[in-house]
Amino acid sequence: MSAADSEGDAERQRFAALLDHAASQPRTIAFWWRDDDAEAPTPALERLLALARRHDLPLALAVIPKGATQALAERLANEPRVFALQHGWQHRNHAPAHEKKAELGDHRPRPEVMAELANGSERLSALFGEKFLPVLVPPWNRIAAAVRDARSEVGLIGFSAFDRAPSDAAHWVNTHVDVIDWRARSALPRATAYALLCREVERRLADEDAEPLGILTHHLVHQEETWAFLEELFALIGEHAAIAWPPVPELFGLER
Ligand SMILES: [Zn+2]
Repeated sequence: MSAADSEGDAERQRFAALLDHAASQPRTIAFWWRDDDAEAPTPALERLLALARRHDLPLALAVIPKGATQALAERLANEPRVFALQHGWQHRNHAPAHEKKAELGDHRPRPEVMAELANGSERLSALFGEKFLPVLVPPWNRIAAAVRDARSEVGLIGFSAFDRAPSDAAHWVNTHVDVIDWRARSALPRATAYALLCREVERRLADEDAEPLGILTHHLVHQEETWAFLEELFALIGEHAAIAWPPVPELFGLER
């Protein structure tokens, strides 16, 4: 066994022990799962949906409105636990080269950005019907505060990005553990991923944080290691007594 494997095993065990400890108290931590950049059915999407079904998990799929296809809407119609969120408009970068990528930043007049979001929302609503939840997921998890705060003008109630969400913000649920190392464009090492999960669970057990713990994936770029990691992770957390998996509409306070 390689050093990386044994380090990964050790962190996995620490994570499992932490969850068992939480269950014995008893404490329950809400988890959720968001996957980004869907436009159409692909072999990777099929793999993602099969993974969700195998572990009976709710899945929030951030769909890029401009490229979203009827075939994707039809495909999701048979997946009762999967819901579509709005991933910007077309996932195009408008930031200058020296800045981090952003579609919804303050690089353009706000009315222009809001008009795109309105188009996106209408398009997803028409395609996905009840499967579309009015939740804005900004591409690259970046957005101008003014656009974020004006989202309800175009009917977008919920919001989801990455890292800590303000504790008093309604309908705002972030993700916290991204399984991809974007700098290396490869799978996050297993040990690192479990260590991040441990830290997030510890924060919640210490009442430093109350928000549902979000796992972020990007099915189109997963390498085999990422798929294997998710399979292993979900086998552990999919049915653990310390973990609740709220349905996606409930998570965002959008139950009908
Ligand atoms: Zn994206």
